[in-house]
Formats: sequence, C-alpha cells, structure tokens
Amino acid sequence: MQKRCPCGDVMPMKLRTVIYSGKVEIDNVPIYSCQSCNRSEVFPEVKPDLTGLIGKLGSQPVKQTYLFNEWNEWADLLVEAYHDRRSTDPAVVKSMIQDRINMLLDLYTMARSTQDEVWVADIHKRLVQLSRSVV
Ligand SMILES: [Zn+2]
Repeated sequence: MQKRCPCGDVMPMKLRTVIYSGKVEIDNVPIYSCQSCNRSEVFPEVKPDLTGLIGKLGSQPVKQTYLFNEWNEWADLLVEAYHDRRSTDPAVVKSMIQDRINMLLDLYTMARSTQDEVWVADIHKRLVQLSRSVV
C-alpha cells in the first residue's frame, strides 16, 4: 500500500513507532513515508484513533508503551497482513478487510444475543473503525 508524495516519489506504508512527548512509545502505527524527502503522513483511516489516544494521554504523560493495533482495527489488520502474510498488497488487504468485517458481524450477532453491552460496544467500535474507508 502506498501513495504519491508531493515530491513525486512514492510513499510506501510502514508500521512505525511514534514517540509522544519523548516518553510514550506507540508501536505499530501505519504511516506513509517518503524515502526521498523524508515526509511522513499518518494513514488517514487511523488518525482519529491516534489523536484520541494522544488526547487521553494528556500533556504530562508517564513513560509507557502502547500497541496501537490494540486500539485500532485497521492497525491490527495491517499488522496481521504485514507480519503473517508479509504483504501490504492492496488486493490482499482488501480481501482481509472483507473477511474481518464478516467475522465482526458474526461476533456482533453473538454478542447481542448474550446481551453483554460491553462486548457489543467493543465490536461496534471495531466495525466503525474498519468502515471508515475501503482501500
Ligand atoms: Zn517525498
């Protein structure tokens, strides 16, 4: 997965570690980066959750590490694509998104039948994250 940089080169997507306030490490953040001019951009679909996480940490965070893929379904899916399948081919990722959405819909039905509201809310949040955009 990649996009075109304003400098004309391509920006491949990579999972990188973001350091916030010099103290907090956020691992597995999907970021587009350009090797020619060093420009980098957070994958737009995950931006609301990254800014939400940083907002929660506040301006005086303690030293800690987060796995961003535990907060965001997109990052989780990309970690799986990258590590398990060694691929970020958009066609592969697209089919994985469809599989993941189907799995979450099954889980959603199951969660609702148990009337476990926390579980229902969690699956709903994950579905909303994934449906932000389709590759
Ligand atoms: Zn560039």
